[in-house]
Amino acid sequence: MAASLNEVFDVIIIGCGAVGAAVAREMTLLGQKCIVLEKNMDVLSEASSGNTGHLTTGFYYTKKRSPLEFEMVRRALKLNKEWLDLQVNVPRSHCGLLMIAMNEEEFNTISEYQVKGIANGEDVRIIGKRELVKLEPNLSVVNDSVGALYSPEECLADGFLLALSNLYVALYHGCHLETRCRVVKVKKDLHQGVWKVTAEKRAIKGGKLSKLFLRARKVINCGGNYSDEVDHLVPRTMDEEKPFTIQPGANTLF
Ligand SMILES: Cc1cc2nc3c(=O)[nH]c(=O)nc-3n(C[C@H](O)[C@H](O)[C@H](O)COP(=O)(O)OP(=O)(O)OC[C@H]3O[C@@H](n4cnc5c(N)ncnc54)[C@H](O)[C@@H]3O)c2cc1C
Repeated sequence: MAASLNEVFDVIIIGCGAVGAAVAREMTLLGQKCIVLEKNMDVLSEASSGNTGHLTTGFYYTKKRSPLEFEMVRRALKLNKEWLDLQVNVPRSHCGLLMIAMNEEEFNTISEYQVKGIANGEDVRIIGKRELVKLEPNLSVVNDSVGALYSPEECLADGFLLALSNLYVALYHGCHLETRCRVVKVKKDLHQGVWKVTAEKRAIKGGKLSKLFLRARKVINCGGNYSDEVDHLVPRTMDEEKPFTIQPGANTLF
């Protein structure tokens, strides 16, 4: 049964994108009383709405340059496979990946990816135009390309359904969800040992705002590209870790 908003939750999850949904699922299945707060009308409506669903990315991060990302990608590769095997309703395809270079600059980029991939133990290789045409004879761009990075183990999954199924599992097991609910204040109450979270809930009709006051033992920031804004809501003393800032990057896929 879903919890009442007045009780002290074990976990408040801020943001319902792919990450918030996965955290909600894991925490709820661990027996934690959770609530997810999403500022938008719909869940999975920001970065997680248009995901390509590309599962393995063993050539973007190297251990030396990004140790945390490297470790997380390694763990995800293992977890994704085990987890996906149980999600019979989430379409997926073990399709491999071709990253096609159309000029020398792009060829240099894919060559760097190859070096990183090999250092990470991935099966990636550069293939020439002739092999590319053999693999993808119906793809018109291959005729003007200069080569490609080929990674036969890559998979695609329906990223939206995958995240939605995580959320359904959490809700089925009693997790609470509030949409149109923007977190505006996060404060630790040192006396009670709980976090106090204030959120503005927007009514569907008329858009009137009302305030929700929630309490939890833990708060998890799953705000995606806004997670630095969420982080800045937490007051800090001089000797505490400084709030962080994120800068989203851009990429081109075709
Ligand atoms: C076009 C595109 C293609 C991609 N392709 C891939 C891919 O192939 N493979 C891959 O692994 N990744 C891919 N990504 C990246 C991946 O989609 C994102 O890393 C992932 O969706 C991020 O999920 P998230 O939950 O962190 O963020 P989001 O989905 O952005 O969710 C954050 C949520 O927090 C909410 N929020 C923020 N602030 C507050 C607040 N104060 N109160 C309440 N709620 C708040 C937001 O409204 C939002 O819904 C792609 C991204 C894009 C844009």
